[in-house]
Amino acid sequence: MSHLMSIYARIPVAFEKGEGVWLWDTTGKRYLDALAGIAVCDVGHCHPRVTQAICEQAGKLVHTSNLYEIPLQEKLAARLTEIAGMDNAFFCNSGAEANEAAIKIARLHGHQNGIDNPAIVVMENSFHGRTMATLTASGSRKVQAGFEPLVSGFVRVPYNDLAAVAQVASRNRNIVAVLVEPVQGEGGIRVPLPLPDYFHGLRRLCDDNGWLLMLDEIQSGIGRTGKWFAHQWSGVKPDVMTLAKGIASGVPLGACLARGAASQVFKPGNHGSTFGGGPLACAAALATLGVIEDEGLIANAVKMGNAIRDGLTAQLAGVRGVKQVRGLGLMVGVELDVPCGALVQSALENGLLINVTAGSVIRLLPALIIGRSEVDELVAGLSSVVKAFLAQQPAAQPAG
Ligand code: PLP
Repeated sequence: MSHLMSIYARIPVAFEKGEGVWLWDTTGKRYLDALAGIAVCDVGHCHPRVTQAICEQAGKLVHTSNLYEIPLQEKLAARLTEIAGMDNAFFCNSGAEANEAAIKIARLHGHQNGIDNPAIVVMENSFHGRTMATLTASGSRKVQAGFEPLVSGFVRVPYNDLAAVAQVASRNRNIVAVLVEPVQGEGGIRVPLPLPDYFHGLRRLCDDNGWLLMLDEIQSGIGRTGKWFAHQWSGVKPDVMTLAKGIASGVPLGACLARGAASQVFKPGNHGSTFGGGPLACAAALATLGVIEDEGLIANAVKMGNAIRDGLTAQLAGVRGVKQVRGLGLMVGVELDVPCGALVQSALENGLLINVTAGSVIRLLPALIIGRSEVDELVAGLSSVVKAFLAQQPAAQPAG
């Protein structure tokens, strides 16, 4: 009997070794990992530079707390704010915590500007985490059900719908911020199109109304979409941006970056974390960012993302049941017209690790180091699994 809480519907396989885009299970079987720990292991499993940085730092100093100065945290904040064009950073341990920090900045910003009941605009089908505030912010009843009463102070609108946000602006004087994923991940790899127009529109609405534009780049950030951060495809700058996942190659780390007025909201005593931004996580993050830059992985994400989408589009052309191949960089989604969770198991049996989200969207988030031959293997393997799965589906009944 397991002594773990029954929280995860785990796939019955355990891995004991990883290298690059490859994982080996406890029986020695090898898998092409097209998920990278859900967009975490961006530089591949056990990249030697990251491994060395973790080992060296673990041998020197792991934890001191935020009661004292942490030079590696300063260095990481300087690097992240430089590549993001932001002013400062707060470090925590997960994506949900990063979003909690963003939500607290928005509320405090509201209170500091005379709004006693601040509210944040959030999107349908979004995902921001599993804490009470972030599950309330998430646009998913599945995530929220059973945890009522939810947190107040969120107003929901459809994603990729500027008119809906403008309508909220005209009606609700308590809005202080918009919180949005530049590309929705859990929601089904949804790219707002045209992306620059959406973000320029949101920026304008925020500027006109004195709101903060807060971007959740937890899944889309750290090079995954072919820019350091997905919003950089638009040229628009946020006031607040949250990061986690790929930032430190699997050593837990989250970050909330802020700019301008938002960067001055928190004062000592407003927020904190025991573990956040410890020396070990910061060493892992600095090594990860160094590898992404030195190995040209952001450009690779564009090239390989295009190759995967082009390959899948060609292989699945005309296949009944395939609705769309889409994405940005190495956030790739294949939407089918039927629920397809069963594909995860059949892909696994074929040595391929994939994910299905939003019921019917195959989600691929491979490491940014993926190469051409691995892309070819992924496309061939996934296409044949998808074709076999769809061939077993009953034909749709003709209408009437
Ligand atoms: N925000 C987004 C966009 C995410 O994809 C996730 C995780 O999937 C989170 C927030 C929550 O991150 P964490 O699981 O590290 O709390």
